Amino acid sequence: MNIFSGILDLIYPVVCMHCGISLVKHELLICSFCNARLPQTHFHTDPVNEMSRAMWGRVNIEFATAYLFFKKAGITQGILHQLKYKGRKEVGIHFGNRFGNLLKENPFVTHTDFLIPVPLHQKKLRSRGYNQSKIICDGMQSSLEIPVLENLQRISYTDTQTRKRRFDRWLNVSEKFILSNPEMLENKRVLLVDDVFTTGATLEACCKVLESVQGISIGIATLAIALK
Ligand SMILES: [Zn+2]
Repeated sequence: MNIFSGILDLIYPVVCMHCGISLVKHELLICSFCNARLPQTHFHTDPVNEMSRAMWGRVNIEFATAYLFFKKAGITQGILHQLKYKGRKEVGIHFGNRFGNLLKENPFVTHTDFLIPVPLHQKKLRSRGYNQSKIICDGMQSSLEIPVLENLQRISYTDTQTRKRRFDRWLNVSEKFILSNPEMLENKRVLLVDDVFTTGATLEACCKVLESVQGISIGIATLAIALK
């Protein structure tokens, strides 16, 4: 083993994160067997997919996609668990990158100006140390070469200082999200990114804030989708 692959082994453990089998050359995080069984949704090839249908009548979005189906005890659950609770940012980078590669030819994504991560509450950000949606964006950025813009913030209404901030007028009263520098998004196309789609409530709340920007067009993309 040379020094370089030794360093890689530290970054990417040498066993498959799903089945535990030893990885061979050119395999990253998961083995070829598990890789071939990744439950991909292929939503990006179908404009009328289950995710876009779930958002009908709620928000004005032009594109909705998720990379993987989430099933209990499945590989997607393992990916999200490692990313959110085990501090393994490289998992989010890796699968974000692959998700981005998949979206490269998509007509909505090819003209997207910014990737915007769904923000984490400050308290959670402090305890986790990072926002998993931002990590996924970073991975997507590396393949899509679209800049990441962190101008959505999650706030707490009990924090009176927050309420006095200058971008108060962008506050959507029923939701806990605010947008700073909204003028940056005027007439732009954005892709809002989150880790997992369940009810769509968080994405809906973010979209409602984004929708207030003149001429914006919005798409949503999540690493996983959990269907009922
Ligand atoms: Zn495996």
